[in-house]
Amino acid sequence: MAHTEEALRQLRAALEIPAGQEWESVVRLLLRLVGEDPTREGLRRTPLRVKQSLQFLTSGYRSDPKKILSRTFTVKHDEMVLVKDIDFFSLCEHHLIPFFGRCHIAYMPDKKIIGLSKIPRLVEAFSRRLQVQERLTTQIAEAIDQHVRPLGVACVMEASHLCMMMRGVQKQNSRAVTSSMVGVFRTSDKTRAEFLTLIRSNLGSPG
Ligand SMILES: [Zn+2]
Repeated sequence: MAHTEEALRQLRAALEIPAGQEWESVVRLLLRLVGEDPTREGLRRTPLRVKQSLQFLTSGYRSDPKKILSRTFTVKHDEMVLVKDIDFFSLCEHHLIPFFGRCHIAYMPDKKIIGLSKIPRLVEAFSRRLQVQERLTTQIAEAIDQHVRPLGVACVMEASHLCMMMRGVQKQNSRAVTSSMVGVFRTSDKTRAEFLTLIRSNLGSPG
């Protein structure tokens, strides 16, 4: 990412930030801007902690969906594969405030399946970035469509947005639901209905 390197160099020069100290300097500046004293006891290690947590929360930029989905197995199975209630946590790109919830993903194999654990890993690869929920939902479905080539993919995400709950409209209990349907999930009412019934049922949930 050459453009980022150059932008970083310019920012450093403008703020007189020594190389390797970007994160800490920026967080210290941020603390000053909110009216805090970054040198007080409780905040002394905050710049380092913010750096580490933000790097983790955006680690999806450094994982490759294509690689996650690269190993497929040839099978006769031609029924829907569904992984539901996958917890996810993401950061809203407008406010850098979390949104989080559950995600349900299904695909209809065309003689090829992927390891089930790959699906939550794919969700992490896309959710640990700056996102809007609509795009996140589409990216997950499109990645499976593109790299596994099934007959269809469905992805439904339900999420609470802290940027709505803590500020702005302050709607405490509203949840946003987004969906992306590809292939047979779009063209066949029966397949889509089966998927929606399965994600609403309590089949297999503890208790
Ligand atoms: Zn937001």
